[in-house]
Amino acid sequence: MLMRWLVWFLGLTRWTARFGVWAFDDGLRNRADVEGAYAASPEAEALHGSLRVADGHADSLMYERGNGFLAGSRRGHVDVARLLKGRVGLQVLTVVTRASGGLAPPFGAQPDALKIIAKGQGWPVETWESPRARAMHQAAKWRRWTEDDRIVALRERDDLEAFLQDGSGGRVALLLGLEGCHAMEGLHAGSSAGEVAAEVSAFRREGFRLMGVHHQFDNVFGPSSEGDAVAAGRDGGLSPVGELLVQELERQEVLIDVAHSSPAVVDDILRLTKRPLVSSHTGVVAHTPNGRNLGDAHVRAIARRGGVIGIGYWKEAVGDRSVKSIVDAMEVTAGLLRGEEGVDDPYDHIGIGSDFDGAVNTGFNADGHVLVTDELLRRGHDAGVIRRVMGANLVRVVKAGLPGRG
Ligand SMILES: [Zn+2]
Repeated sequence: MLMRWLVWFLGLTRWTARFGVWAFDDGLRNRADVEGAYAASPEAEALHGSLRVADGHADSLMYERGNGFLAGSRRGHVDVARLLKGRVGLQVLTVVTRASGGLAPPFGAQPDALKIIAKGQGWPVETWESPRARAMHQAAKWRRWTEDDRIVALRERDDLEAFLQDGSGGRVALLLGLEGCHAMEGLHAGSSAGEVAAEVSAFRREGFRLMGVHHQFDNVFGPSSEGDAVAAGRDGGLSPVGELLVQELERQEVLIDVAHSSPAVVDDILRLTKRPLVSSHTGVVAHTPNGRNLGDAHVRAIARRGGVIGIGYWKEAVGDRSVKSIVDAMEVTAGLLRGEEGVDDPYDHIGIGSDFDGAVNTGFNADGHVLVTDELLRRGHDAGVIRRVMGANLVRVVKAGLPGRG
């Protein structure tokens, strides 16, 4: 019986390895309702043409697509040509190293869709079982992409400042982020401060400058907003090694992303840090109530800290994937911040975090950000607000968060 089940399972694994990636992840998802021709008013086109859009979250490093990111691809939401067409100046590319992918038992108690992605796309053997190796593989891909003339790698504050001097709009700056520190496989519950520092350094050397403690499941550092502990009503916040990790991220000038962390973990991160924080891709409970989205108190705390909240373009973040809902969520977020002590202008703390290529469907691709500009303009927001929401806020926080040279 067990043998028959095993044979069936291995067969299925091989099948999913070969077809699963294309059929279920990059083919059925990562789609847009509208491809290509995005209709915006002439005023919106003119304003958008002068913007430098900054998007806090896309998962494009997870997919191979041949040389599609650089050469152009019909697959997924993002490639260089579409980023440039969308006036994107700064794109955070986040590395996913484990995800459920909607798989449920009998695929195991801890479903690992990234194993299918890794095998199915011919990633090196060491990535098949290891989230750490998957992070390193994708970081190497990011470094390879940044060798292209149209791309700037953001490692130090000077890199961003030099990039901002160039107003041509012909290049895009890529910041490498990590979606969940479970990829730091060298760490465990009893790790010392020195061991934590060494592992954070190892990831920084690869180019990572923005890190979220969590993805969609609990880890040794504490509970995820979507993990078992929160579901069971036990949100204990950061573990002792989680506290060491957050302190070390702060010390090594890594931008901390609170997206996917549990409410008590976000409280602990706020308590242990002083630098601006981001929630790179999220919605807000006040607009779309669910456990993945940011509660009112956290929206206000991130803003008081000078941080930025990247409003997502997908269903779970904003209720559906319409431009109307994206802008509604932005306005509701601003409403939470109006009159808040220590917050000059609510729109200083709102940005975008599309989750393009994050195994989600969206209303449009990376060349369609003009639709958000169009909707903001239609609702009477002035050019200054639009400029900040569409990019300048995130640029400000990244600039403050990147390490200075020397
Ligand atoms: Zn995510």
